[in-house]
Amino acid sequence: PAGWSPSSFTEGNELSTPESSGNGTKANAAFVVLARNSDVWEILSSIRGMEDRFNSRYHYPWVFLNDEPFSDEFKARTSALASGPCSYGLIPKEHWPPGSEMPEGINTTRAWEAIKEMGKKNIPYGGSLPYRKMCRYQSGFFWRHPLLDDYEFYWRVEPSVKFFCDIDYDPFMYMKENNKKYTFVISLYEYRETITTLWDTTKEFMAKHPEHMPKDNALKWISEDEGETFNLCHAWSNFEIASLSLWRSQAYRDYFQALENSGGFFYERWGDAPVHTIAAALFLPKDQIHFADDIGYHHNPFLACPTKPKGRNCICDPKHPDAFEFHGYSCTPRWKQINTFAG
Ligand code: GDP
Ligand code: MN
Repeated sequence: PAGWSPSSFTEGNELSTPESSGNGTKANAAFVVLARNSDVWEILSSIRGMEDRFNSRYHYPWVFLNDEPFSDEFKARTSALASGPCSYGLIPKEHWPPGSEMPEGINTTRAWEAIKEMGKKNIPYGGSLPYRKMCRYQSGFFWRHPLLDDYEFYWRVEPSVKFFCDIDYDPFMYMKENNKKYTFVISLYEYRETITTLWDTTKEFMAKHPEHMPKDNALKWISEDEGETFNLCHAWSNFEIASLSLWRSQAYRDYFQALENSGGFFYERWGDAPVHTIAAALFLPKDQIHFADDIGYHHNPFLACPTKPKGRNCICDPKHPDAFEFHGYSCTPRWKQINTFAG
């Protein structure tokens, strides 16, 4: 904001500022928030946390997206907390069909039956149509929003998340300088019932498009039998720092189209998290995927808490039973394991 300058820092602040870190440049990056107007209070706490722990020293912009027009209150409250420029985008109807509508090509009778059936089971959002549209949007469309056109990287932020530690470096610049395309902090196993045919659809795609898969990809992270079956491992996409080039690539566009054609976002309940992870694991060399073990993060019901907090003023317990790096439901140990061996 106007009036801010590095010299306005109090003496003794040990955190680096963009002006004093690396070559003194910032990445071409923004925070991306998908939210409803009713999420305003919950997103405010996330913005406050991100600003306090990181962005008040960097002033990266915030991009807010919504399938309905943002209210004046939402805009006023959020822009008051953000230290970077804010923009507010409306999602076009072609990317998010309104009300009870579904995308063209979806058999609505079949979809409603599936939604009703899954709603009877104990599966998160199993009975929700809006949630399905959200997952489809986060998979196939947010990166096509014109407000993101000029950016290279984004950091996804959701309502009611917490950042437990100071982020004392610029994760965007880290990715740029180290050629990383996808950063995660928590990984876990998906509910099998939500993605019954996702892997078959993916295998069909792989067979048709071997050219999209680099040899040194991370298939081993998500499959324990050379791609025969999916082990349900995925990075939790509510936290995601990634290069938009991953989703803009022909490989991903082709992949999303194949998923879209099969209807699984509606006939099942494919999450954007497994979709993103499968794409990153198949289409990127594995050294372009990054597990950030130095970021403390909470999204209900799990957390990531650095085991080497090193003066970052963390307020989390690395031994908390829901801490995920070493948790029994975590896929992060497998991630580390596949990176221990060459090839
Ligand atoms: P969960 O993290 O899987 O429990 O799902 P959330 O309720 O947090 O939703 C994921 C993200 O999508 C959050 O950023 C929500 O604010 C956003 N979201 C979910 N449903 C809608 C919706 O119907 N409209 C809009 N605009 N955003 C939504
Ligand atoms: Mn959430």
